Amino acid sequence: MPGVPDREKKSENCQSCFKMLNGTVPYATFNDGTYSHYYCAQCFDGIGFTESNLSLNTAFSRFIAGKRLSWLARMKYARVFQNLRRWKMGDY
Ligand SMILES: [Zn+2]
Repeated sequence: MPGVPDREKKSENCQSCFKMLNGTVPYATFNDGTYSHYYCAQCFDGIGFTESNLSLNTAFSRFIAGKRLSWLARMKYARVFQNLRRWKMGDY
């Protein structure tokens, strides 16, 4: 987003499910009203992940479900998912 200072910069895709933030899904909000910079409201409820037992594989399967992806695209997204904050760092 142009004109937004760096400290306000947010991920464009949810770092758990990789949906487009503020496009497909809204950002998660904390109890104090601030936005999560990394996660959508479906994945993170401001206190913790809504599905704490969700695995990387399940999240990835959901993401590619219904999408017509080439083998190459699947490989690309698999790598993207491995590097998402939740799956890489397990952090909020
Ligand atoms: Zn999400």
